[in-house]
Amino acid sequence: MWELAAFCNCVECMKYNYWYIHCRNCESVYTLLVDQGAKAEEARSVLPNSLKTEIVMTANVRQWRKVLQLRTAIAAHPQMRQVAVPLLEIFKKEMPALFEDIKIDYETNNGYLIPWAQ
Ligand SMILES: [Zn+2]
Repeated sequence: MWELAAFCNCVECMKYNYWYIHCRNCESVYTLLVDQGAKAEEARSVLPNSLKTEIVMTANVRQWRKVLQLRTAIAAHPQMRQVAVPLLEIFKKEMPALFEDIKIDYETNNGYLIPWAQ
């Protein structure tokens, strides 16, 4: 049994604990499979979809504006917002004429970072 990672018994901390335990269990099974001779590309099928990954994306300005409007919205998935909001902040700083009109709603989401991402 894994140690719980969160801090109290509130709903958000308990949700984080369940997620954390599940991820650690998946990691253990992955390691067991590799230790038993499975190739990494075979064993990775047991890993959760919240696995860290790296992506490269190219788009024109119009497409970036649309993507950032959709993915920074409060209704967007929290983990997508975790990527999109800082990206929009960079775009606003580097290209204000093109992105400064896209507003980021921080207040209604109590900050955009989800507890386990901090
Ligand atoms: Zn808590």
